[in-house]
Amino acid sequence: MGQVNFIDVRDDDAIFEGSGWDALVVVASDVMQTGVDEISLLADHGVKIDNRVGRSATMLFAPGLAGGRLILSPVLNSQDDVEDVRVFADAARAGIALALQAGAKRPLLLVAKESDTRYQFSAEVAALACGQELWQALESREAKGDKPAFESIGLLCSSDMSQSLNALEAGRILARDLCGTEPERMSAAAFADYCVAAYQDSGLKVCVIEDRDVLERDYPLLSAVGRSSFAVSRHQPRVVKLEYVGEGEIERTYFFAGKGVIYDTGGADIKVAGGMAGMSRDKGGAAAVAGLMKTLSMLKPKGIRVVSELGLVRNSIGSEAFVTDEIITSHAGVRVRIGNTDAEGRLVLADLLSHLRIKAEKAVKPELFSVATLTGHVVRCYGGYTATVENSVAKLSGVASSIASQGESWGEPVEQSVLRRDDYAKIVDPSGAADILSSNNGPSSVTARGHQYPAAFLLKASGLSEHGVQSEKPMAYVHVDIAGSATEGHPLYGKPTATPLVGLYKHMTVKS
Ligand SMILES: [Zn+2]
Repeated sequence: MGQVNFIDVRDDDAIFEGSGWDALVVVASDVMQTGVDEISLLADHGVKIDNRVGRSATMLFAPGLAGGRLILSPVLNSQDDVEDVRVFADAARAGIALALQAGAKRPLLLVAKESDTRYQFSAEVAALACGQELWQALESREAKGDKPAFESIGLLCSSDMSQSLNALEAGRILARDLCGTEPERMSAAAFADYCVAAYQDSGLKVCVIEDRDVLERDYPLLSAVGRSSFAVSRHQPRVVKLEYVGEGEIERTYFFAGKGVIYDTGGADIKVAGGMAGMSRDKGGAAAVAGLMKTLSMLKPKGIRVVSELGLVRNSIGSEAFVTDEIITSHAGVRVRIGNTDAEGRLVLADLLSHLRIKAEKAVKPELFSVATLTGHVVRCYGGYTATVENSVAKLSGVASSIASQGESWGEPVEQSVLRRDDYAKIVDPSGAADILSSNNGPSSVTARGHQYPAAFLLKASGLSEHGVQSEKPMAYVHVDIAGSATEGHPLYGKPTATPLVGLYKHMTVKS
């Protein structure tokens, strides 16, 4: 499905005609000085006839080189202090797009090495950026035929890269397919089916809950969000449970809750004035976690166990819809007053996290995460960046810092927000009738601490707040808000990014 096939190429002579590759794409800060004489010579000629050479992606006629096509894609501003490895991603995307337009079928990517530590994974990030550039929407692939853009992409490199990159990209493709697809094609049931098909023979344990009685008993907050969707059979909710167990003695255990709101009308607090369009992308958290599990199943890292729950539910509106003021008891036994039905993501996640908390009690070195397109506030606050909000246990062991550090190196930058006492003050139920209030009743984007305080709610409503630093079983917990980073480009219909899949995978598998 929309697969990108990277192949390691060790032979430097592969850049020449007859190697089987049909375009050479050079990504370098200085395309005039790559250290390869043939490229320098052609670049020298090129710049005499076209001022764009060295300033933007250009193609030169290159007799003697692979396919006779030399695409020079300069990495701009790489020396600037403020830049990060995404400058390589930008250049690779421009270069591979040109190769595609030119009609190449087997491009060979050459990424010039830089000693700057910011760019230690520049070749890998450039390759993954090609995957991002080439991904096509699932609906259009299903309508027009699912042909990969290229037969394969060669990576001129000195070490094994392709196996890991192919697995990361396979996970990212799954994540984009699940996140980006319209709400009828990717209903909760279809999302679950798509996962089951994607994990066939993967070795992952997969379980789908669809029984209404079970959902209402075990996921009461999630089921409240989905209450009016039960009336339409094809809109009914699902919970997908996934587990990966690596070989060898388990040294660490990771738990992920993914928000998969299939479509968010806002519910009874309905989104008005055109605010609903694009709300099929409110499942990016569940999609990213699903993709992460796919990558894990392919690369099989040893010594870790990863357990995930995806909450797939449509926040519909109708006569059965849940409304504000209702008090609903969460799976953890916390009585939650509904403050706003459009703050539904935290309700879905709280029940998932409660189930994961129970499993974490017996797990080796547990770390728990919620991943969600949760708030407009995070977009207002940080633009297109992922935000983390962690509890004190996670902070003491540097969990969010590790994710941020990996994300920085891999082109998925993260902003680390801080959980404060003010965040707990915001979830007090003023009436005293319920244990906590789910939300204030205004848009998060105009609410102070609008993306931080939901983490306080999630800790309380899931029972995780009982596992603080002083408790018998402390549990590290990081809430990851990807509302700003799950898609790029157009605000409503932009391309899904699969963020923060790579940063999370590296956090779990690279020992610091
Ligand atoms: Zn909402």
